Amino acid sequence: MEKKLEIETEGFKPAPAEYFTGKAFVRTLVEADSVTNCNISYLAFEEGCRNNWHTHPSNQILMVKEGTCYYQEEGKPVQKIGAGGVINILPGIKHWHGASPEAPMEHLVININTDKGLVNWMEAVTNEQYNN
Ligand code: MN
Repeated sequence: MEKKLEIETEGFKPAPAEYFTGKAFVRTLVEADSVTNCNISYLAFEEGCRNNWHTHPSNQILMVKEGTCYYQEEGKPVQKIGAGGVINILPGIKHWHGASPEAPMEHLVININTDKGLVNWMEAVTNEQYNN
């Protein structure tokens, strides 16, 4: 039985809807600037929510905090990663991440080398891809 996510609404704002299927919320912990070449945030997904296919110019490291993270790299099966699990996504790997259909999911997001850019958004993840 998965634990229901308790989103701290304080400090979270809606993630940009055009890049998500369903609702997600973001809370920035460390903002990249001229001396901090890294961005750290919490990203919370409602059940069934996932982001679009995308790549990152540098590594993106995810640490699952609550729920089960669905994670897929193009051409590979969907992986299901529980709380405490860590995913190191290499530069240029096309992928998506999101919650399970049953419960919300929250993960910590670490984007390194943000001077190279943050994300390149692509097409939405279809229900067929998500449910596979
Ligand atoms: Mn990503």
